[in-house]
Amino acid sequence: MKIYNTLKRKKENFEPSNPPKVTFYTCGPTVYDYFHIGNARSFIMADITRRYLIYKGYDVKFVMNITDIDDKLIKKANEQGRTFSEVAAEYTKAFLDDIEKLKIKKADVYPKATEHMEEIRSLIEKLESRERAYNVSGDVFYDVKKFEGYGKLSGKNTDDLEVGARIELNESKRNPLDFTLWKKAKENEPAWESKWGSGRPGWHIECSAMSTKHLGDTIDIHAGGNDLIFPHHENEIAQTEGATGKPFVKYWMHFGFLNIQNEKMSKSLGNFFTAREILKKYRAESIRLLFSQSHYSGPLNFSEELLESAEKGLQKIRNFVENINEGLAGNIPGEYTKFDFTQYYQQFEEVMDDDFDTPRAAAIMFDFVRDVNKHIVENDNLPAAFYQQAKIFMEKTAGEVLGIVSFDESKDNSNNSLEKELIELLIRLRQEAKNDKNYQLADKIRDELKSLGIVLKDSKTGTTYKKE
Ligand code: AMP
Ligand code: ZN
Repeated sequence: MKIYNTLKRKKENFEPSNPPKVTFYTCGPTVYDYFHIGNARSFIMADITRRYLIYKGYDVKFVMNITDIDDKLIKKANEQGRTFSEVAAEYTKAFLDDIEKLKIKKADVYPKATEHMEEIRSLIEKLESRERAYNVSGDVFYDVKKFEGYGKLSGKNTDDLEVGARIELNESKRNPLDFTLWKKAKENEPAWESKWGSGRPGWHIECSAMSTKHLGDTIDIHAGGNDLIFPHHENEIAQTEGATGKPFVKYWMHFGFLNIQNEKMSKSLGNFFTAREILKKYRAESIRLLFSQSHYSGPLNFSEELLESAEKGLQKIRNFVENINEGLAGNIPGEYTKFDFTQYYQQFEEVMDDDFDTPRAAAIMFDFVRDVNKHIVENDNLPAAFYQQAKIFMEKTAGEVLGIVSFDESKDNSNNSLEKELIELLIRLRQEAKNDKNYQLADKIRDELKSLGIVLKDSKTGTTYKKE
């Protein structure tokens, strides 16, 4: 199996450190708002990569961090007169809900920055003791000059970078490229105690601390969008290798941008659709099919027309699944060997082994649908065994790897998500009743939900529920 490694600028054989184990870290969201479908592209492509590794028999530990403290979060909290943790809790929940709706497998761990202050401080202390970090009255910086390999991931040369670096207002830095590890607290900002005084961590150090805590000093795959190569991932390497002296990541994997009219979809440009608004109009499977149909490493120009044609493609697959289910229901006994299923598995694995070539994998799946349909038309009374094999192929490839089909709609979590939305609607109505001092109605909603086995729990950050 080959994977393109940004660090080496070439495809390499995939050889994890301790097979069959694979450690996999992806940079996750900053939870100050809903995420857009550009972010979703990176999350889905990481999900498909992980699913294919599982298909290949690897035992994958998958970690995605949640940045729950940062400038944007503090700004939003101030605008809304809320605490930063209320904002973070709201959008963490929204993130997890949207991830589930997009049929993205849950990570094994979603570490949060605010829950890793100990690890972050001790990593900075280690860098300080190795003279790679310096403290200027409560702000701690990484001394880029002390790390020889700086620039090796992005291919940037530090001299060029210095010339290009913006003239920094912050004159306490030794070098304009030096970046913040620990930020001294400003008035009225959330802060944590440390040996340098109260403050909070920089964004880059969070990922170094959380990835090594959950996956060890050397990770097999570290992924993220192209925009993270520099400076985020470059800085992660400097921090982690600077502290451990060991190679940080074996394979760096980067996802191309989702663009709109050839411009990167981003919050700051305002040219975005949130995943939740797109999910109101289109199936998660159509979004996944559309993303599968272009290679993860290149750009993808998004439009709703493209999504509509993916929806049509998906319909072909859904009709096919129905045909297979009907054939299975026919229950005709007997063996069947007149259709060669193995060639399709071989083709699928061959292309996926070549740096996760999902566009070719999707094409093979459509060939399979066409060929099996033709076989059904040309042969009467095919036994259930034939349909069973067709079903297994689709389940393993289109289902378990690409995540675009499900044979059992009752297992499909779209029903669960409707249930979830209805419960959340009732929670909001109960809150409105409380706001109107209509406690009788509020209690009635709580009690009736309880009789259905749904228990509400109120806390400072809002109401959550549990099924009993
Ligand atoms: P952020 O919350 O902005 O840090 O982004 C979360 C993830 O989405 C990161 O891996 C980013 O690289 C990725 N990302 C952001 N914008 C895009 C885009 N337009 N296309 C693809 N991935 C993106
Ligand atoms: Zn990161």
